[in-house]
Amino acid sequence: MPSLRLANLIDGRLQAPRLDRWLDVFEPATGEVFAHCPDSSSDDVNDAVAAAQRAAPGWAATPAEERARLLHKLADLIETGLDDLAALESRDSGKTVAMARSLDIPRAVSNLRYFAAAIVPWSSESHAMEAGAINYTLRHPLGVVGCISPWNLPLYLFTWKIAPALAAGNTVVAKPSEITPCTAARLAELSIEAGIPAGVLNVVHGTGPGVGQAIVEHPQVKAISFTGSTRTGAQIAMSAAPQFKKVSLELGGKNPAVVFADADLSDANLDTIVRSGFANQGEICLCGSRLLVQRDIYDRFRERYLERVRALRVGDPSDASTNLGALVSRAHFDKVMGCIAQAREEGGNILCGGNAITQPGRLSGGWYVEPTVIEGLPSEALTNQQEIFGPVVTLIPFENEAEALHIANGTGYGLAASVWTSDLSRAHRFGAALDFGIVWINCWLLRDLRTPFGGTKQSGLGREGGVEALRFFTEPKNICIRY
Ligand code: NAD
Repeated sequence: MPSLRLANLIDGRLQAPRLDRWLDVFEPATGEVFAHCPDSSSDDVNDAVAAAQRAAPGWAATPAEERARLLHKLADLIETGLDDLAALESRDSGKTVAMARSLDIPRAVSNLRYFAAAIVPWSSESHAMEAGAINYTLRHPLGVVGCISPWNLPLYLFTWKIAPALAAGNTVVAKPSEITPCTAARLAELSIEAGIPAGVLNVVHGTGPGVGQAIVEHPQVKAISFTGSTRTGAQIAMSAAPQFKKVSLELGGKNPAVVFADADLSDANLDTIVRSGFANQGEICLCGSRLLVQRDIYDRFRERYLERVRALRVGDPSDASTNLGALVSRAHFDKVMGCIAQAREEGGNILCGGNAITQPGRLSGGWYVEPTVIEGLPSEALTNQQEIFGPVVTLIPFENEAEALHIANGTGYGLAASVWTSDLSRAHRFGAALDFGIVWINCWLLRDLRTPFGGTKQSGLGREGGVEALRFFTEPKNICIRY
């Protein structure tokens, strides 16, 4: 099969990068190159920003109903191409086709539809004063905004940013991860087909330093919505600060799943707890990688949990019986294997997994890791402090609620936590005390797009989702009239 050659979308046209430089894109399942993506430069970013600036007044003046119609049209096209997009997402990222079909691509559709629907009735505040005056708030689009997304949920997170930005009347210069650029490139093509006007959505492919940094530093880019690692988030915050740009930073996590002795550990709930650690090979920022279990039930829980983890099948992402596909890249595979080696050095006891897997035939060069469960490490161990972002879960026993809270909150991150208990009072009390932006009680990854999404501490700054995203992508102006 000839390799795919992706293009930038600038000013409504699909274009090669100015310097004609290209990056290899790998298929994680095989370790082979299957596509090439533009290795764009700041010149391409400048072109994209100029196009976005030209398009900005027209798009801001376009009625919300019309912007919504175009976003729905784009969603329709994604829905029509769901099978192809799911296969492409799987090929590009190593995730299973089943996951891409049931989660990634449908969620991209929902992101577009949600913000298309939300923008039409969106209204701003007014504040009447007894002294014979009224304030009302205008919310103008910002102009040109930058959206930068990671590799783990490629189209899902790309659309999670561009949908509210476009709905609110901004024009966008977006950069998907260079590791998984394929579905964003396809989305760019579909946006032309949907009739989104030239310059409204621009997609520039390339590396973080080459393209991402140029977007962040460009003086005409008024805000940056970023999802990715804490380290890159810190760099973006530093680059954006001197220009006082708005930034929304969705960063890493080291999430706890806390299981109390009174939890309803039905088979279905246990399956969810397993999924919360290993879905998408553990490459979801919301995965619970620290599994805290109350001592009274620890032994029995561990037995039932391990039985399920051992039954997970790692293999061909396109095989319907596969639970875990390949890790996204050689570099990430090496990182995860390094974390497992570190856990061993720290004295961790590997209860299951712990090894790379070589698949037969054409998959023999792919990057596969066994689902791995480790116990015997204190909360302060590096393994329990650093984000691994792979199929690795540590088991940590606790005695009581106070200790569980201390361990759960005892990391530098604060993205998401899940709690399993039948005690309603405890659920409320514990949920409120957790220092995390998102808490799930007796569930995991149950998402309502209206809710604020984001983390505390090193997990980020600001919130996405619902009106939070629309507020981020608009500038409020108060007008006070005395009468
Ligand atoms: P990354 O930070 O390496 O890259 C993310 C994006 O930023 C990529 O498009 C990359 O090219 C770009 N980038 C890199 N350097 C840049 C720079 N200096 N300036 C501008 N852009 C730059 O992250 P990743 O490895 O792609 O993604 C994995 C990380 O993302 C994990 O830490 C994970 O927890 C996090 N994540 C967080 C959330 C969330 O919602 N909080 C969701 C998904 C992933």
